[in-house]
Order: sequence, then C-alpha cells, then structure tokens
Amino acid sequence: MHARDTAFWTASAATLRPAAQAYINGRLQDAADGRQFASVCPHTGQTLAMVARCDRADVDAAVVAARRSFDAGSWSRCHPRERKVVLQRLAQLLRDNADDLALLDCLDMGKPISDALNIDVPATAGLFDWYAEACDKLYDEVAPTGPDALALVTREPVGVVAAVIPWNFPLDMAAWKVAPALAAGNSVLLKPAEQSPLSAIRLAQLASEAGLPDGVLNVLPGYGEEAGQAMGLHPDIDCLSFTGSTEIGKRFLAYSAASNMKMVWLECGGKSPNLVFADCADLDAAARKAAFGIYFNQGQVCSASSRLLVESSIHDCFVEKLLTEMAAFQPGNPLDPATRQGTLVDAGHTARVQGFIASGLQQGASLLSGGERLHIGNSDCYLQPTLFTGVTPDMRIAREEIFGPVLSVLRFDSEAEAIAMANDSIYGLAAAVWTDQLRRAHRVARALRAGTVSVNTVDALDPGVPFGGCKQSGFGRDLSLHALDKFSQLKTTWISL
Ligand code: NAP
Ligand code: MG
Repeated sequence: MHARDTAFWTASAATLRPAAQAYINGRLQDAADGRQFASVCPHTGQTLAMVARCDRADVDAAVVAARRSFDAGSWSRCHPRERKVVLQRLAQLLRDNADDLALLDCLDMGKPISDALNIDVPATAGLFDWYAEACDKLYDEVAPTGPDALALVTREPVGVVAAVIPWNFPLDMAAWKVAPALAAGNSVLLKPAEQSPLSAIRLAQLASEAGLPDGVLNVLPGYGEEAGQAMGLHPDIDCLSFTGSTEIGKRFLAYSAASNMKMVWLECGGKSPNLVFADCADLDAAARKAAFGIYFNQGQVCSASSRLLVESSIHDCFVEKLLTEMAAFQPGNPLDPATRQGTLVDAGHTARVQGFIASGLQQGASLLSGGERLHIGNSDCYLQPTLFTGVTPDMRIAREEIFGPVLSVLRFDSEAEAIAMANDSIYGLAAAVWTDQLRRAHRVARALRAGTVSVNTVDALDPGVPFGGCKQSGFGRDLSLHALDKFSQLKTTWISL
C-alpha cells in the first residue's frame, strides 16, 4: 500500500478520467446541440473535462424520462423496503468509490483532499443511509373523525423534482436534495454548479449501479441561465429545491410564478453571527471553533460564522487566541493531505473576495492578519485567512455575504446590544452563542432569528436536525425527516362508513 501523500494524490489525479456527459434516462449522453464547457481545476489551471452544456432541449428530455419513470411506478410505487435497499447500496458504492469522489470535488473546486475524503464523502454516504432507513419506518395518519367516517392522511411523492445546487460542497449538496427526494419516491433532475459538475455525474452512475430505475435520477450539467432557468420555467416540474445565492433564489420564485406555480424551496445566503460573551468558560475552544467556523472550506460555507461579536472586556485577549488558531489555515496545495485551506473556487470569485477586503480597508476596519492573494504553483486562487477588527455594523464586510476566508470582528457591551447587532441582517441562516450561563444561553438563543443556533459550538449540523434559514436566507428545511415534507404532499381520503 502506497503512502497516501501528495505524490499519491497527484498521481491519482493524473489518471482520473471523469465522465462528463449529461445523465438522462440511465445513460450518459451529449447535450442535444453538442455544446460543451470546460470544467477547470483551480489549482492546476488545467481543464479536467469538457462537459455537456445542457439547455432547454436536454431539460425537456430529462423531464420526459423522469415523468415516464414516475408514472410507471417502478420507484414511486415500489415497496418502501425496496427503496431502502437501493439507497443503502448507493451509500455503500459511495464509500467504495470514496477516493475518486473526493478527488473529483478537490480538483473541481479546490477543497483540501483531506476534507473531501474525511468530511464530504462520508457525510454523503451517511445521508443516503439515513434516508434509506427512513423509507420503511414512516407511518401515515388516521384523522380523529367521528364514528361514521375513516379519514386517511397519506403522504405521496410530488412527482418530478428539480434540484439546483452550488459548488461549495458539490457532492454533499447533491445528496441533501437527492437523498430525501428519492426516499419520498420522486423522480429527480439535478443541475450541479458549472464550476463543479463532475461528482454529480458520478453519483448518478453509481445510483444506476445500485439499482435505481432509469429516468429516476437525471443530471444536467450546464449554465444557470440555460439549464437552471429551463428547470425553473418548466411546466412539468412539480417542485424545485435550490441552494445558492439570495439573488438567484429570488429568480426561482419568479420562474415559478411565470410558469406552473411549482413548489420552490430556497436555501440561500447568510451572514451568521457568532456571539462570544465574557462568561464563556472555554475561550480557547471558542477561538478554535471561531477560526474553523470561518476558514473551513476557504470560507465558502453558507452558514459560515462570518461575523464575530465579542464582548468588549475580553476582546483583545480573544483576538490574540484567534490569531494563533487561524495560523492552521494557511493555504496550500489541496492535494497535500496536511492542507486545511485549499484554493477558492476560481479566479473570478477570488477577485470578488479581494474586493471585499479592499472595501473593509477603505471603510476603516483594521486588517489584523492576512488579506493577501497568494500565487502557489500554477494558481493565484489562494487567499490568506483574513481577520478584520474594528468593524462597525454599517460596513459592507459586516453586512454582505463574502463567501471567502474573511472574518469581521465587532464588539459589544451588553447582551441586548449583542442581540440587536446579531439580528441586524437581511439573513437568518445560523448563529452561535458562547456563554456558561444556562439562562443566558436560552434567552439569547430564543432572541436570535436564525434557522440553527449553536450554543458553545459553531455551525452544529447533523442528518437528524433540520437545516435552513429565515428572512432572506430562504425557507424550507434540508436534512432530518422534515426535508421529506418538501418532497411529498398530503392526501386526504375520506371514507364515509
Ligand atoms: P448561485 O450563483 O446562486 O448559483 C447556484 C446555482 O444556481 C448554480 O447551479 C447556478 O448555476 C444556478 N444559477 C445561476 N444563475 C441562474 C439563473 N439565472 N437561473 C437559474 N439558475 C441559476 O450561487 P453560487 O455562487 O454557486 O454559490 C454561492 C451561494 O450559495 C452563496 O450565496 C451561499 O450562501 C449559497 N449557499 C447556500 C447554502 C444554504 O444551504 N443556505 C449552502 C451552500 C451555498 P451556474 O453554476 O451555472 O451559475
Ligand atoms: Mg471546476
């Protein structure tokens, strides 16, 4: 067995030949008009593959295949135990192919190979297992009618579900949509982000290998304004689940209104506050998690703890601890297993994040650490982990989602001020509170407007708990049994006795 070092992963990358066509009705195929786009690796600058550039004709074909499979019932009406077995086989195939899947995401969007291998792939496999287990354990309801009637409340799949996802966790985000949608019995169209289409195509191939009937999972790589918009406007898609920016999320609402009123579920951006009170018992742990909460995945996390609110009396000492912890996130070659921060997704996004760093400086924040774009090997998509102090709530770096390794530190003097500052945002995805006082923990958690509030940790996440936002972070919940609500409809059958 070779050492799984940088040389091992570099050699594995050189021999990888990713499938790059659309996956429609159980088959790889080119786009109808034959067009392609390049999937580029942000750390080598090389084209990984020329990928099918799907557009309306391909979406139409995939919807026909999905609808046919749904109506045929081989998945939508099969025994729940059969569904469970197929999804469990898929989970195992994901584990069996972990190296290739991890490499695909690492090469496609620059995340460290260790994260892809130890976090993304196991989480994806685990999620398919979790929803597989749910298939044959959910009961429907009998309503409390009088003695002259029997009213059944049954859960039915909605039909054809589309999922449009971003590039920050390509495989995971696909699983967050596809696993519950399939478990609920739907047929699915998936559009991965143009920057990271390859692992989604592999997922569909593995799903077929696991025994998923043809047409039940279709993957349409392409551009948002083409394949994505065609899905949003399609008259025969029943439900669309989106993860991405707030700006594009709003468009999906308009697409739905302009077409068939399809159900739309949105997981959009965030500017999540992390509140550290002076009574926090373990400031070292708080600093370690604060660094992880913003620098993990190059800061490209929708629920990243990007606003750090620190009580004035511990501000300086906490920032000192943070400076130590953030040193672990110096960027490096994503194929090196020791790397904890890889490249950002591409040069355009890196420049956008740099623009935020410039605005922080221009608006008078103090750049305490980082701020530089680095050139390593053939790539200039590396950014130092960046820390701004002296940030005030009006600054752009305190208000807008940066989606990069940039942390804004604000100070507060009272609980009420901390809560007001935390809630002063158009977003409401996640929040964190560090305190050792039980009453304060509950009081503040209740007052924060966020889908998830973590107490004495950051970004708590588990397949068993719902994830999603309020305000312009969107609506609807991914993960947990509640995700199944998005992909099913209740039917009432009233039997007069
Ligand atoms: P994005 O630009 O909104 O793109 C997301 C998806 O929408 C991509 O597949 C994209 O396709 C597609 N799209 C773009 N323009 C479209 C259009 N006009 N019509 C239809 N589809 C369109 O977001 P991103 O830059 O990829 O990802 C970063 C954002 O995602 C951040 O705001 C982040 O907060 C958010 N995010 C949220 C969550 C959550 O759960 N709340 C999780 C992860 C990320 P192309 O790739 O071809 O542009
Ligand atoms: Mg790419």
